[in-house]
Amino acid sequence: MQPTLRSARAALVAAAALFTVVAADVGCAAPAPAAGEVNLYSFRQPQLIQPILDRFTAETGIKVNVVYAEKGLLERLKAEGENSPADVVLTADVGNLNDMVEAGVLQPVRSPALEANIPSQYRDPDGRWFGLTMRARVIYASRERVKPEEIARYEDLADPRFHGRICSRSGKHVYMISLIASVIANDGEAAAEQWLQGVKANLARKPQGNDRSQAKAIAEGECDVALANTYYYAAMMGNPEERGWAEAVTLVFPNQADRGAHVNVSGGAVTRAAKNRDNAVRLLEFLSGDEAQRLYAEQNHEYPVKPGVATSPQVAAWGSFKADTIQLVSVAQQRAAATRLVDRVGFDEAGGS
Ligand code: FE
Repeated sequence: MQPTLRSARAALVAAAALFTVVAADVGCAAPAPAAGEVNLYSFRQPQLIQPILDRFTAETGIKVNVVYAEKGLLERLKAEGENSPADVVLTADVGNLNDMVEAGVLQPVRSPALEANIPSQYRDPDGRWFGLTMRARVIYASRERVKPEEIARYEDLADPRFHGRICSRSGKHVYMISLIASVIANDGEAAAEQWLQGVKANLARKPQGNDRSQAKAIAEGECDVALANTYYYAAMMGNPEERGWAEAVTLVFPNQADRGAHVNVSGGAVTRAAKNRDNAVRLLEFLSGDEAQRLYAEQNHEYPVKPGVATSPQVAAWGSFKADTIQLVSVAQQRAAATRLVDRVGFDEAGGS
């Protein structure tokens, strides 16, 4: 935005505030309604989300009160019930959004702006959650030890040629459950079970750590391939202590010759208890619009969910890729089956070889 436009808008907001005070002082019967506030529970980190919320407040005059928490927000929403102060929640992964749907803490929203900005694949058909950013879960492969033609599909991870060469985080992490659910949705449960058995048999060590730890393990020669989300690669490249981990791997976007790479979202939803429902919807609409989408893309190196918004230069350098076109809600429906599969296979009990 042009600085002149910004200051003009700030002046308007200030003038509106002044009018409210003056109107109240003279006992005017119909003072200009205050823009009010909206209460947000965010699983997403403050450094990512706060600059975007500040823009929302600058443009609308609506104050955003945020509770940040990495864990425990679902439990909190359930415990608070109808008394919850939260109007909106922001979280990563369709798994977390689906858990909130199942807990009954969200309400459906109909919004032409949200429906125009967000492709139907990346939102709940009943309007209970909306994807706001996209990330692909891709294969990180050792630049030194994996030949480009060696791996092209998620299914390849079960091939005996990768025996003792795979690292993984816990199969029960929400990112892994969603990926496994997508394999069930695409290949069927029996094939998915055989696949996960094969991946387990190929593990170099017991599942552990987060996505970045898998790149570190590849850099340190513990294993050759792993699964991780795209934005961590860009994040590691931007951190001097982690850059070497990223430089040791290359990103392989899987299944480009067939269904495409598994894409998940971070998303938002309006709570069932929302007292500031209109402002909550307005915030979600803002987050799905061009300006917020561009800020998200730049700050966290995720893919904008709104078509036509540019990615960050780092992400653009990876080139375009084919995303799995499956409805995310269909993946979410297989999450319970995926969780049972991880237990049945004993994925996290793998000892390595
Ligand atoms: Fe993440």
